[in-house]
Amino acid sequence: MKQRRSWWPAFWTTVAGTVVAEIIVRLLGQGSLVIWFLRLIWRVLATPVTLPVWAIALALFSVIAALAWLVRLAAATEPEWLGYRRDQVLGVVWEWGYAGRMIDLGSLVPLCPRCTHRLSFGRADSGQGYYHNHAIATCENCGFKSADLGVTANDLPGRVGREIERKIRTEEYKTALESTKE
Ligand SMILES: [Zn+2]
Repeated sequence: MKQRRSWWPAFWTTVAGTVVAEIIVRLLGQGSLVIWFLRLIWRVLATPVTLPVWAIALALFSVIAALAWLVRLAAATEPEWLGYRRDQVLGVVWEWGYAGRMIDLGSLVPLCPRCTHRLSFGRADSGQGYYHNHAIATCENCGFKSADLGVTANDLPGRVGREIERKIRTEEYKTALESTKE
């Protein structure tokens, strides 16, 4: 084992020796420092070294491991759910975008599940002679009318955003992602 490793200190001794020797020569004499430096680099690169197979194997393995790590890192920076931008929540189709990795609530657009026309919101009829604060969505194109959405129009983006987050967390979003791909 000791003998096998001896190439490494020998290599650096050669490099260090060459550098020191050249610096002394250059300090005493004259000449272009750039050309000297290029020649020095070439000499270092051209230095033959004997590598044991385990060192080559280790180097190759390190490169492969580093590449695999980079690929995983790239995959981690772009999670699949960032492509999840359309789904049906509370009987309404929603489209949205992300601000970084957060759902951009301001970007939520309600669409008609029948004709994809953009929906308008009104107040739900309680059926008891008055309107309460809960929102309903209506389509002025096809006449679609949603059920009572259960929240006020103001609270709707928050409610929908939380439901989208839940679907991402439970990976239910994958079903919607598949259906929109087709
Ligand atoms: Zn419609």
